[in-house]
Amino acid sequence: MKDETRVNHPPAIELPGDNYPLNLPIFQNVKWETETVLEGERIARGERPGFFYSRLSNPSVRQLELMLAQLQRRDECMVTASGVNAVAQTLIGLTRAGDHVVFFTEGYGPTRQIIRGMLARFGVTHSMLSIDDLEGLERTLTARKTRLVWFESPTNPINKIADIEAITRLARAHGALTAIDNTAAGFHQHGEFDIDLFVHSLTKFTTGAGDVMGGAVIARRELIGQLRSDFRLFGAHLDALSASIMVRGLKTYFVRYRQQSSSAQAVAEFLEHHPACTRVRYPGLASQPKAELARRQMREFGSVICFDLVAGYEAGRKFTESLQLFARTPSFGSTESLAMPPQMMQPKDFSPEDLALSGIGPGTVRLSIGLEDIEDLKADLSQALEKAGQ
Ligand SMILES: *Cc1c(COP(=O)(O)O)cnc(C)c1O
Repeated sequence: MKDETRVNHPPAIELPGDNYPLNLPIFQNVKWETETVLEGERIARGERPGFFYSRLSNPSVRQLELMLAQLQRRDECMVTASGVNAVAQTLIGLTRAGDHVVFFTEGYGPTRQIIRGMLARFGVTHSMLSIDDLEGLERTLTARKTRLVWFESPTNPINKIADIEAITRLARAHGALTAIDNTAAGFHQHGEFDIDLFVHSLTKFTTGAGDVMGGAVIARRELIGQLRSDFRLFGAHLDALSASIMVRGLKTYFVRYRQQSSSAQAVAEFLEHHPACTRVRYPGLASQPKAELARRQMREFGSVICFDLVAGYEAGRKFTESLQLFARTPSFGSTESLAMPPQMMQPKDFSPEDLALSGIGPGTVRLSIGLEDIEDLKADLSQALEKAGQ
């Protein structure tokens, strides 16, 4: 064999059958071979276990999928290249022209843009309601045959709590599927409810490091099977290295989520008593309108706090620019604390009525609490609130 040939056929490394690495190796690999063409065909058709091509399936990615399905208490999971992609794939994969989708004003902006823009272009209609309006939901489901009810809890950005039992019961009674974007609540909450599909951004709590992007859809086998046939053709698969980094990240997920929740609770209580702040929204605060519902549905309340600066829009700029320990940036769930000023919070696609319903005001700021020392965070917030004025 000449060297030119040899470098294209490197030596195989045999792993003894009784000797295992603790971490699954990163399968940085696109193609798999089989001894016979027939077996390759059977794998590609899904008739036997095995791998064929990494756009369809990859062992590193598969390990992450199985881990997430177990955490969320469902049979199957499909991971994607971003959270937004998981949202889009689910909405596109489950609807067709003539279908009707219900979603809520308080939710994540890009999801709204997919439903109102992309789905509408393909003939899927929608109704947008407030997440608090259960009567409106019942009226809408009675009046219009609905394919899917899409909701969040807590909602991003303003942390409203959805009545999951009521929403899923109404949807079920009217033959609609339910999908929850569970990104803020994490992978370990809400699994006991009668929800058909869980959608996540893996970019937030999976590693907490803000180093990789991804998304996931978690549901019963039949629904994921239905989504996968489209997904293979869209090609927005997660790569093996990102999946491995996420598997590693999940090993510290519970420690991070719980610590961040407990620090966020302390910061929310601090802000609630500060004269420069109003409408502090954190599901763990006893003063919240849905505090009892939140406590029934969740064990931990996450890292996100939303509040309004009494002094308004410009004070929000000054406040976030005065913070030393909070990065001025979107996203949440990372180990460092983050702050979104009002300038980054204003939805551009809302009528004044929708904006009022959304709960986002001119002085609304969103914080995500990280793993820093809680006294350091409070001191930083104190000095920045003072600089922002009242
Ligand atoms: C961040 C986020 C997404 C989108 O996730 P990306 O990974 O940024 O694409 C979707 N839904 C919610 C609720 C989010 O917070």
